[in-house]
Amino acid sequence: MSAPRLYVVATPIGNLADLSPRAQQILAEVDLIAAEDTRHTGRLLQHFNIKANLISVHDHNERQRADMIIDRLQQGQQIALVSDAGTPLISDPGFVLVRAVREAGFEVSPVPGCCAFVAALSASGMPSDRFSFEGFLPAKSGARQQALSELAEATQTLIFYESTHRIVDSLRDMQATLGADRFVLVARELTKTFETIKGAPLNQLLEWIQADPNQQRGEFVVIVQGAPARADTGISIEAQRILGLLAAELPPKKAAALTAEITGANKKALYQLLLDKKG
Ligand code: SAM
Repeated sequence: MSAPRLYVVATPIGNLADLSPRAQQILAEVDLIAAEDTRHTGRLLQHFNIKANLISVHDHNERQRADMIIDRLQQGQQIALVSDAGTPLISDPGFVLVRAVREAGFEVSPVPGCCAFVAALSASGMPSDRFSFEGFLPAKSGARQQALSELAEATQTLIFYESTHRIVDSLRDMQATLGADRFVLVARELTKTFETIKGAPLNQLLEWIQADPNQQRGEFVVIVQGAPARADTGISIEAQRILGLLAAELPPKKAAALTAEITGANKKALYQLLLDKKG
């Protein structure tokens, strides 16, 4: 370590043993650590017996801190950026700082490690060749359903972060917008004592999580299987959702006929889809 540089250092998402030896070395050697929450990072450093100068960098002071950090880099210092857990900038502060430092002409180096969604995806068995990370959904149900509706036809795997307060409401909104059959996996408390990974069609997953309040506690990654490619059925996700709702109340022929009327989809194809599902 010699030239001035900003290191973006990933920290554990639960299990402290996941802090890499390289991350430990860099955190011990830099002149300054910019942390999302200095008390939180202080405890991590204490665990590893690392003494360091800390300053806070969060959503509300990032611009101002960026100027100060660029000053320090101009003085030849080495600086590390960390967040409370996982990789900085991934649903965490740091973007404004990293961009400003690069624009000022200084090097920024990643020190990779934990990231909750990558950890969840790697153990999920869900298609990982194409996925989109969507971060946190909106807090209010109306906006959340709108955001989910916009993603309903996406064929790639969809990945969300969710908190203990909203996990059930979000899964309910997913059922309302994506349909009860959509396969979804929740990865809870990864790398911690109560790590749980469970995948099922949404209606079964909701039943399971609602039956056990313990399964609603902690931190969650939610992974949603992509929609089947249009060519598979020729029927839109919205038409399939309406068909599913009507078929729960009406005989298959009536459900198919009404769905065709509402959505303009082909009646025969809708009826065939119901038969295939039954089969
Ligand atoms: N920067 C972090 C990363 O690299 O994953 C994410 C920070 S974001 C503010 C926090 C969210 O990440 C939590 O609400 C949860 O959705 C997810 N998360 C963090 N740790 C987790 C864990 N151990 N298990 C499951 N999800 C976790």
